[in-house]
Amino acid sequence: MAKDYQNRQRDLEQLHKQILACRLCRENFGFEPRPFVWGRAEARIMQISQAPSLRVHKSGKPFDDQSGQRLRQWYGVDAGTFYDKRVFYITSIAHCYPGKTGKGTDRRPPLRCARLWLDREMQTVQNEIFIIIGSVAAKYFFPESVFTDLVFDQDLMLRDNPAIVLPHPSPTNWRWLKAHPEFEAERLPQVREIIARFVR
Ligand code: SF4
Repeated sequence: MAKDYQNRQRDLEQLHKQILACRLCRENFGFEPRPFVWGRAEARIMQISQAPSLRVHKSGKPFDDQSGQRLRQWYGVDAGTFYDKRVFYITSIAHCYPGKTGKGTDRRPPLRCARLWLDREMQTVQNEIFIIIGSVAAKYFFPESVFTDLVFDQDLMLRDNPAIVLPHPSPTNWRWLKAHPEFEAERLPQVREIIARFVR
């Protein structure tokens, strides 16, 4: 078993090198891409969001902002646990910050990044549960489903593992949270209970 982990970790390190060297979207972005990777092969939880923010593009640390504080509160974990690479493997549909639209919002993540890199990460990491964050990531994996139904689905599976779908914790996502008070009242306690099983 230990050897299997070692092999997987070695494969993952090779994959990370390839991801970090990727510049495929340079022309589309109009600036130098900065790919982002975080986690080890034995991580029990794989968290998949949309794309790194401008802040992550600059700092290289995921969810080191208000969204991250809220996310850790939702999970019921402290920063030490959240940033423990043996507990959380943190990735996204696109591995680079994609730049801004004319309206000042972040561009949609290039899906080719997920096809090229994320699928291989999912094959290599030994996680036991997925957490999918935000509607863009949810649509990539569950294109036929309604986002809100996914958030409240207690039996959701992804590639033979249980999966949780969450709204994006960004302060700009207040409309969805306000429209669905049952998320914080009913769904979050369930989510915390599930996550607690994987962080002990
Ligand atoms: S977003 Fe993905 S495919 Fe595009 S440059 Fe970054 S790592 Fe490469």
